Amino acid sequence: MIRAYRGKTQDTYTLSVLALEGFLPGYGMTQGGCRFEFHGADSKSASRDLSLGRGLAQGVREFVPGNLIYAMGERFKVVSYRMSPKPEDRTAERFEIGVDPDAPFLRLPGQAGKLGVAAATPHASVDAIPMSDGSLDHASRITDDESMRFALPVDLHASQLENVHNGGATYTAPTGLQLQLLRQQKLRLVNLGPANLSRQGEWGYPICTVCGAARSSMSSDAEKLLFVETHQKSCGQVPVPRALYADVRVDGLRLRGQASMADAANLCEALLLGARDLLDMGERDLTWVGIAQDDGAWEAFVYDPMPGGSGVLDEILDRWEQVLDGATERLHGCPEACATACYECLKNHSNAFHQPYLDRVKAADLLATWRGLKVQNTIEPATGDMPTKGQPHHSKEQVFLLALQEAGLVGDDGPELNAKLDLGDGIVTSPDALYRNKKVAVYLDGMSAGLHGNPKTQQTDAMTNRILKMEGYHVHRIPWSALSDPTGKKQHMEAIGHSLHG
Ligand SMILES: [Zn+2]
Ligand SMILES: [Zn+2]
Repeated sequence: MIRAYRGKTQDTYTLSVLALEGFLPGYGMTQGGCRFEFHGADSKSASRDLSLGRGLAQGVREFVPGNLIYAMGERFKVVSYRMSPKPEDRTAERFEIGVDPDAPFLRLPGQAGKLGVAAATPHASVDAIPMSDGSLDHASRITDDESMRFALPVDLHASQLENVHNGGATYTAPTGLQLQLLRQQKLRLVNLGPANLSRQGEWGYPICTVCGAARSSMSSDAEKLLFVETHQKSCGQVPVPRALYADVRVDGLRLRGQASMADAANLCEALLLGARDLLDMGERDLTWVGIAQDDGAWEAFVYDPMPGGSGVLDEILDRWEQVLDGATERLHGCPEACATACYECLKNHSNAFHQPYLDRVKAADLLATWRGLKVQNTIEPATGDMPTKGQPHHSKEQVFLLALQEAGLVGDDGPELNAKLDLGDGIVTSPDALYRNKKVAVYLDGMSAGLHGNPKTQQTDAMTNRILKMEGYHVHRIPWSALSDPTGKKQHMEAIGHSLHG
């Protein structure tokens, strides 16, 4: 099915055939892809040239040392990444990651201390280089069954989602749980290394950051030592393990309000189990990441790594109850009747990193809380610029704005953040969010003891309330703490929505 081709003929190559196999040559590098090349002339065992393109979301997961890449009836391995010739362009990004396997958070540079979940848990620093183009070497011919394709289980993390996407929709379940379909959501993915090593606190891949040469983490100690010595001599630097990161745009389902990383894992793996059965998906068509939140909760982001999206997420949402039915049946009816999880139910070859969390009873319980999902509102595209007048002063207000956005309360009518509202007689009030036309003012209380905690402030607040109400305003005061409580948050957002939409 897949024909070989030499470098110059690639423009005429049948894209659709390759797209079926996920090779997608010609997928524009300008659109955030990566390309790995193999020059057969240099090899005794495979004579053809090969050039494989992938979207970055696929590339950062698959084109890693130690994995096998299947193409043209052969197996290939990544042997180098393309490094910039300028040393100043070769600097790595430093990420902080949770060393507690139950709280494997990922923090960006400068985000220190922001994640509630991570406040008290120890962390380690990992340097990551951006995913780039590279070269492949021949590994072996494919002799066994294609279904037995090797895929290196990796530890993939993502940073918190930014408000950058092409829109989507919010869905809610009667339990109050909320899911967002987000198209082309911006996502920073970090591949921390092979799952088995990551679990032991060893992160990164052996990569020389001067010349880009890479070795499998699973090579023999002797081979790894030789790699280090060679590049210390030739490149003047000892190669240290590097993670790989990529900023991607992917379609995804954002599942909020997970109590723990374990819950996120059980929920997502169960959903994927149901979807695979029903929609004839492969193990790797969809994947997910658990993302630590500022309020201590976790969210899961199930995403479609195909550039532009394959549409499989829409199918899942269309047939949501069937997906849950199928998954629940598989979980309850495990033929092995296993105690927690096995390869007949929740485990598969792609989810090695998350297997210690998996529990089919827990997973079925979690699925049940997502029954009866209904569309709540559509989400407008966002570019990361605030769609509102005024700018949030600090991160708590960003959390507040996000809550409003999730509830579909950000639109043409506002809100303005930190707006000034002149009530006459020298009284000016500054609601945290103001919908001027709809006359709805929202205040966040308890931001600090000095603000709304003391009696004088409370008196002023009460007076402002009275004046606003006389002027025909709906006034909402939300205790800051309510924003970190899903039920409380939902109630307040519904109340604001009621004032806005009657
Ligand atoms: Zn080197
Ligand atoms: Zn089982």
